[in-house]
Amino acid sequence: MRFGIGYDVHRLVSGRALILGGVKVPFDLGLDGHSDADVLVHAIMDGLLGAAGLGDIGKHFPDTDQQYKGISSLKLLEHVRVLLKQNNFKVNNIDTVIVAQRPKLAPFIKEMRDNISKILNIPCERVNIKATTTEGLGFTGTGDGIAAYAVTSLAELDS
Ligand code: MG
Repeated sequence: MRFGIGYDVHRLVSGRALILGGVKVPFDLGLDGHSDADVLVHAIMDGLLGAAGLGDIGKHFPDTDQQYKGISSLKLLEHVRVLLKQNNFKVNNIDTVIVAQRPKLAPFIKEMRDNISKILNIPCERVNIKATTTEGLGFTGTGDGIAAYAVTSLAELDS
């Protein structure tokens, strides 16, 4: 078994859609970034690449590369799944925390889990997503940004 950790932050700005776990969450602000800025999926990808010893998403999907501009992060996650398979790994489980003061994310968690588990080809119960506020403290508390943490485990495929 191999373990990885991922962490990401994106700034909340006006004029962008808020995409979390591949779900378009209704809100007056969205996350800024080169791709769709899906901070949850970014943290998950870094966790998976970390567990596999394959670096990070900046190495695989540089934000200077025009082909990734505005891309759905679920597409990138699909690419990570292929990389894992090529390196003889399968995803065991993923646990995550989204840190956001607003909006309330509980109604969207199930759809996020479905999206991510489908892309990774694993049962929904193996993708856990939690959301928390920071009681108004720090950059997430003031609503300047949203952060996400992911811990991942991989099993080695029998070859
Ligand atoms: Mg990111």
